[in-house]
Amino acid sequence: MKKLLSIVLSAGLAVSMLATPALALTATPETGTALSQSAGMPEGFTPGPLTEEEQAYDRVSPYDEEDAARLEISLWSEEGDASVFAAPTDYNKANADQVYKFLCTELGMNSAQAVGVMGNIYGESRFNPTACNENDTGGTISYGLCQWNSVRYDSLRSWCAANGKDYTTVDGQLWYLKYELEQTSEKTVLTKTDENGLGFGKAPNTADGAWQAGYYWARYFERGASRYWPQRAEMAKEFWSIYGDPSQDAPSTHEDATSFVTRLYQICLDREPDSKGLSDWVSQLTSGVSTGSQVAYGFVFSNEFKGKNFCNEDYVKQLYRAFLGREADSSGLANWVTQLETGTTREAVFNGFAQSDEFKKLCTEAGVSVGSPIAIPQYGTVPTGSCSVCGAEDGVTAFVTRLYEICLDRKPDSSGLKNWTNQLWSHANSGRDVAFGFIFSDEFQGKNYDNATYVEYLYKAFLGRGSDPTGKANWTNQLAQGVSREQVFEGFVGSDEFTKICQSYGIVRG
Ligand SMILES: [Zn+2]
Repeated sequence: MKKLLSIVLSAGLAVSMLATPALALTATPETGTALSQSAGMPEGFTPGPLTEEEQAYDRVSPYDEEDAARLEISLWSEEGDASVFAAPTDYNKANADQVYKFLCTELGMNSAQAVGVMGNIYGESRFNPTACNENDTGGTISYGLCQWNSVRYDSLRSWCAANGKDYTTVDGQLWYLKYELEQTSEKTVLTKTDENGLGFGKAPNTADGAWQAGYYWARYFERGASRYWPQRAEMAKEFWSIYGDPSQDAPSTHEDATSFVTRLYQICLDREPDSKGLSDWVSQLTSGVSTGSQVAYGFVFSNEFKGKNFCNEDYVKQLYRAFLGREADSSGLANWVTQLETGTTREAVFNGFAQSDEFKKLCTEAGVSVGSPIAIPQYGTVPTGSCSVCGAEDGVTAFVTRLYEICLDRKPDSSGLKNWTNQLWSHANSGRDVAFGFIFSDEFQGKNYDNATYVEYLYKAFLGRGSDPTGKANWTNQLAQGVSREQVFEGFVGSDEFTKICQSYGIVRG
C-alpha cells in the first residue's frame, strides 16, 4: 500500500524532501506515541519518550495528501519497507565530500556525527546548495543544503552577505551552518539529550552512533514529525558505509573531559565544580562543540575569574598553573608581566599559553583538540578592583588616582574616582580624554597657575618627572608667544612617555 507523505516544517527549517523518490520512508503514522523499536534502530538503543511538545507537533502534522500534492514535494512510501535502504546514489558526491570534511574539521564532529548530519542533508536537498522549494508550508521559500526556511533563509542570505560568502554555494552554507551552531539557539542540537540521556553529541563513533546522530539531528535540528527521525537515521547509517571512519574518534571520553574541566575549576576558580557547570562544559568538549582553548577561555574570561581582579603578576601566575601545570619561573613571569605593561592584552597573553606545547599535551591527554587562538578584542580585559591575592590597586584606579594627586594635589573623592574609572573601563573616554578633563577642570583652572607652573604640572603628569630647564623654557616661550594651553597639552599627551604611562596601567591613550 502506498501512502503520500507531506513534509512539514518547524521553527523555520523545512523538513522537505525533493521529488526524487529514492528514499523509502517508514510509515509510522500513529501520532503522539513514544517511538518503539523502529526498523533499523540499533539493538539496545532506547530513545527517550516524546516530549509533550513533540507529541503536539506530531498531531498537527498528519499525513495530508492534498497538501503534499499541492506542494509537489511528495515521496511514496512503501509501508513495511523501512529496512530497504539502498546506498544513496542520487546526490552530488563532490558536495557531500566537502560537507563531510567541513563537519569533521571545522565543527569538530566525529565521523558518526558528520554522517548523521549528512543523512539529513541528503533528505533535504541531495547536497544541492541551490535546491529551492518556492512553495513550502505557508507559501514560503526553503532553500539550500538544509532547506533553510522563512526567517532562517533570510538569515542565511544576510549572514553570507555580511561575511563575504556566497549563499548559493556549499561553502557559504557550511559557514552559515557553523554560525548557527556556534552563535544561535540552534547550537542546542549539539548538547541536548532526551530523557534517557541520549543525543547527537553523545553519538559514539560507530555505525550505530551514525544512526543515533542522524536520529537526533532530525529530532533536535530539523524538528520534523517523529515518524521521519528513524528514516533520517537509516540514511545516516548508509552514509556511514561510505564515509564512516572508526579511527577518526577525536572527541574525548566523558572521564577524560571531566578531569580536564574539573582541573580548570580547581585552578582557575579555586573551587570544586558545580554539577550543572561541569556537565555543560563536559558536553561541549565531548560533542566537539568547543575546543580546549575555547573551554579554557570560558574559564579565564568568566565573570567569576574576572571578579578576582588579578593584578598582572597574579594573572600570569594563574595561567602558568592552568596551562603549564606548574608555578611560574621568575624570568618567564617577568617577561609576561612586561608584555602586559607595554600594551599586550590579557587575551593575547592567554593565547600564548593556550597554544603552548604543554597545553597541547594536556588537551591530547583529554582527547580534545587545542583549537585556534581566540580573537583579540579591540580593548583587552583589565581588572576593575583590587587584586584578590595581593591587594594591589588595579591599573585604571591607579591611573586616575595619580591624576588627582599630581594635577589637583589631593586624594580622589569617591564619586569623582568612580566616574572617571567607569569612563575608562567602558572606553567612553581614553587616557588622553581623562587627562584633559583634569587639566581643564574648574578645579585646576581655578588655581590660576602661571605659564611656568602650568608647564611644570604637565611635566609631572605626562612625563612622570620634573622639568629640565631647556625644555621648560621652550614651552613657556611658546605660551608667551600665543600658543594656547590646549596646544601645549596635546604636545605632552602625544609623547612616548605618556603613551608608556598609559600602557603600564592597561589604558588606551587615545
Ligand atoms: Zn596581585
